[in-house]
Amino acid sequence: MTDIEDINASDCCGNGCANCVLDVKVKHSKVCDKTGKTNVLLQYTYFRLLEKKPHSDGDSAVWEFHFKSAQAEIGETEYILDLSPGYHLMLRTPYATAAQGCVENEVEMKRKYLLRPYSPYWWDVEKMEFKILVNLKYHGPMTAVLRNLQNDNEVEFRGPIGKFEFTPDNKGDNVILIINQGVAIAATIPIIENILKNDEDLTRIVHLSCFENINHIYFRKEINDFQKYWNYKAHIYVAHELCEDCKPLSACSHLCKNFRNKLKYKEPIQPGRLDDMELNKVLATYGNDVPHLQVVLAGTGNFQQHFKDLLSCDSYGINKNNIYLL
Ligand SMILES: Cc1cc2nc3c(=O)[nH]c(=O)nc-3n(C[C@H](O)[C@H](O)[C@H](O)COP(=O)(O)OP(=O)(O)OC[C@H]3O[C@@H](n4cnc5c(N)ncnc54)[C@H](O)[C@@H]3O)c2cc1C
Repeated sequence: MTDIEDINASDCCGNGCANCVLDVKVKHSKVCDKTGKTNVLLQYTYFRLLEKKPHSDGDSAVWEFHFKSAQAEIGETEYILDLSPGYHLMLRTPYATAAQGCVENEVEMKRKYLLRPYSPYWWDVEKMEFKILVNLKYHGPMTAVLRNLQNDNEVEFRGPIGKFEFTPDNKGDNVILIINQGVAIAATIPIIENILKNDEDLTRIVHLSCFENINHIYFRKEINDFQKYWNYKAHIYVAHELCEDCKPLSACSHLCKNFRNKLKYKEPIQPGRLDDMELNKVLATYGNDVPHLQVVLAGTGNFQQHFKDLLSCDSYGINKNNIYLL
């Protein structure tokens, strides 16, 4: 099996990813070094869909997809699946199986394969399995492929692609600020778990999540579980929560009784957008007590750029090199 470094222009999905496969280097796998095995993901390889199910009762458009490597299925023992928190995989499918009618982009029409990136939120190295969260709300070609994918169908993935680097902090100097939007929270879950499960890592996590409304909060249970850790603090913003009583006001406020009734015990959910004022308020609680602040942004390109510009402006003064776009 060759290395993912064997890439050319046709390996780029053309979606303007912050970490384009053409610009990032292969992440060296320490697990492979240790085990003497090869990362099954280094070249496009088939994965079988084990299961797909809706992520929650409240949102029928967002589904969890669970894949297993075909190599694992035939009992191959020379491979493992090595992924890193904050990295994504590229899904490719021949245009013959993609919904041709949906492809309007000329560059894509000339290609043999349709390519789209997805960010695993869970994986098992030995079993060579992973899960992704997919928003099936859009009317694009890969959404159509995934919507029609049935259990036991196979598709090809390759990776891991990204450049997020993280060093555990055993002194308690570091804060990691994670800001995410919609399903892009999936990419941040392994980053958070990686810190929280390491008792020697004293990094404090400030996790700001933006969703449409309460029914569209993803990983709600996980966020509530993370809140039990001393070094994790979540704030959830729902921009468009609207109950019958608040219709004349266009959105529920924190005073709305119906809004408060939808929250579980001590849930850090508030109505409204995450804006400059709110960001200032959250960061002010850390005062000057943060020798090192690292920022992770996950969401659409516009969302990431907005927060990158804001945080690197004079009033926040965060060094652009410390801001990672997933
Ligand atoms: C690094 C990276 C990781 C990603 N990880 C995931 C993931 O884990 N799960 C997931 O569901 N998607 C993820 N995406 C988006 C995904 O790659 C596809 O773009 C998406 O599934 C739609 O593909 P498509 O071919 O159906 O439509 P496209 O041709 O890509 O898009 C169709 C239309 O829908 C809009 N659109 C698509 N996705 C969004 C969105 N999230 N928010 C707003 N508008 C959108 C596009 O702007 C376009 O107008 C990721 C994107 C990037 C860059």
